[in-house]
Amino acid sequence: MIERRATIPFSEARQLITEHVERLQPVSAALFLARGMVLAESIYAPFPSPYFRRSGYDGFAICAEDDHDFPITLQVVAEVPCGATYNKRLNPGETVRIMTGAKVPEGASKIIMLEQSQVAERSEEIRLINSQPHSNITEIGTEFQTGDLLLEKGHQLNAGSLSLLASFGVTEVKVWPKPKVAILSTGSELVAAGDTLPDGKIYNSNEPLLVSLAEDYGAEVVYHEALSDDYEATRTRLEEIAGEVDLILTTGGVSVGDFDFMAEIAKREAKLLFNKIQMRPGSPTTAMLFEGTLLLALSGNPGACFTGFHLFAEPALRKFSGKPSSILEVKGIMAQDYLKNNGYDRFLRGKVYFSDGEYQVEPVGSDMSSSLGNLPFADCLIMIPRGKVGKAKGEEVRVWLLSSKS
Ligand code: AMP
Ligand code: MG
Repeated sequence: MIERRATIPFSEARQLITEHVERLQPVSAALFLARGMVLAESIYAPFPSPYFRRSGYDGFAICAEDDHDFPITLQVVAEVPCGATYNKRLNPGETVRIMTGAKVPEGASKIIMLEQSQVAERSEEIRLINSQPHSNITEIGTEFQTGDLLLEKGHQLNAGSLSLLASFGVTEVKVWPKPKVAILSTGSELVAAGDTLPDGKIYNSNEPLLVSLAEDYGAEVVYHEALSDDYEATRTRLEEIAGEVDLILTTGGVSVGDFDFMAEIAKREAKLLFNKIQMRPGSPTTAMLFEGTLLLALSGNPGACFTGFHLFAEPALRKFSGKPSSILEVKGIMAQDYLKNNGYDRFLRGKVYFSDGEYQVEPVGSDMSSSLGNLPFADCLIMIPRGKVGKAKGEEVRVWLLSSKS
């Protein structure tokens, strides 16, 4: 007899999942490895920036006493390239040839640009023909004073953040770590790419899909394996892995067939959170706590697996590491009809483009859960709410903008 499962709306499923996710403990991470992670501490300037008076131009440093009645002729007492210093005080009548970014000597109050200089009769002298109102010197602490806030706790580190912190010599930061994820594809029909394909079997396409998506959305994938439809072997492997990872993602085996062991495990070995969602594709998507570890069992159908990852796994990954949302929900306008009736809310893999101030969306490829020809091109999910008529061109829909395209 086919069992009847209690169904819940997709929004409730998302909430149940995130309710069972606790933010991870902060760790120290090398700055270079921390890109994309969220700061678990605020970081303040350890010293002023710039921390020495910096020349803004290639030119000549002069004293205030000489800054009048141009042209003037001064004695060139040194050359100060970037990274070098002139360790004496500059005296009236003297100048140093200085480069952009080099430290301005003490006693100097202005940089005369190179363009305003001419050779003098004597080689150790320079003739400066004009001055400008600006000093052309960036004073100590112009951008940051010691103790100024550089980046606030909760900031997600990007290339610019790494560069700002590196400019202060920071090598380690306290961040919320990437959640550790195990990806298990279940199904006795699965063969790994590279192996020969016996009749009746299929190549495992969910594994590269989920590994890539999980990494794109900030997970550390510590296991990715395929398991055959074998109850004991599946349970044993889950027992080994649970506790070692923060999230287990499985595909396949969640329907009500004779070999759908993930569904059985959810009922017999775990605390079931839900096993039927009022949505297509992926209505048998199941979530459970297996020995305390959150396990999200996605449907094996590639289209459902893709959709389920974005709707259910991504919010969990984000919450583990304290990240802001990277899949934005927006209002979209249907650019073409989709008039099929739906007993459940339907999520279409779609294409989105911005035009006339609106997100125009249209389905891409087939809406079948088994199809995967559109996976390389889908950049949004379009929700067609349950109902008799679908959505016509020009109607408003809920849209999720996917951000993994690396
Ligand atoms: P299941 O959820 O196990 O009932 O699988 C549903 C459909 O998805 C079946 O046609 C499976 O052969 C297919 N499928 C299951 N796992 C994978 C996978 N890892 N890669 C590609 N297709 C799969
Ligand atoms: Mg199966």
